[in-house]
Amino acid sequence: MERVEEFVDDRQKSWCIHCTRWLAELDTTEDHVPTKGLLVKPRPHHLPVVTICRDCNNGFSRDEQYAVTVLSCILAGSTEPEKQRNASAARALAKSVALRTMIDRSKQEYQTTGGETRIVWRPDIDRIKRVVLKNARGHAYFEYGEPMMVAPTDVWVQPFENMTETERMEFEHPDDVGDLSVWPEVGSRMMTRIASGLGVEEAGLDMEGDWVIVQEDTYRYSVSQSGGGLRVRSVLWEYLATEVQWED
Ligand SMILES: [Zn+2]
Repeated sequence: MERVEEFVDDRQKSWCIHCTRWLAELDTTEDHVPTKGLLVKPRPHHLPVVTICRDCNNGFSRDEQYAVTVLSCILAGSTEPEKQRNASAARALAKSVALRTMIDRSKQEYQTTGGETRIVWRPDIDRIKRVVLKNARGHAYFEYGEPMMVAPTDVWVQPFENMTETERMEFEHPDDVGDLSVWPEVGSRMMTRIASGLGVEEAGLDMEGDWVIVQEDTYRYSVSQSGGGLRVRSVLWEYLATEVQWED
């Protein structure tokens, strides 16, 4: 298994990719991309790590805990800690009554005309979007060695079940898959992949078409450049589709 080396311009490692402040003057910490709680143990080795400022790291942690826990509850159809397949979610629910109550309130049961009981959830989408954006900034940085210094033009999340077949197709196979007319900067990780052939297997990170599989059935993402913009898509637990778009 060949390890793809990282050749990222060192100057770009100097800013926090979230708040864009100069790291030299700040208390910093190493942060995994994506959010570790979204993965299951054993987690893949060689998870991408970025240095970010401690303020940002602290600021994200509650949203990350919420996002992981609410997604776990939705997939389990329950807020009971014992019913969670995700260990971080089970721990968070057992520890925090407030969190469990909050998630419980976003759950609604209703009867179908056939008399079946169904559940719908109204999670706090903004909190989930903050986590999606956080990870997208990490993926963009990791793939292109380029911190996205500006706010995105759009952050979108949607369960696959809410998407039509056409929307799903478009999401899975964007038209610019493998578009070699867009040339990334030499030295970026994407360039290294193209130069060494798509489908390159990195230690712990496999490619499937345009998608980087961080952990099978758990987390995958794709980064593409279109025009002057950049788009990061991810799929969480093969349930939630996400997209962050930066226009030029
Ligand atoms: Zn920061």
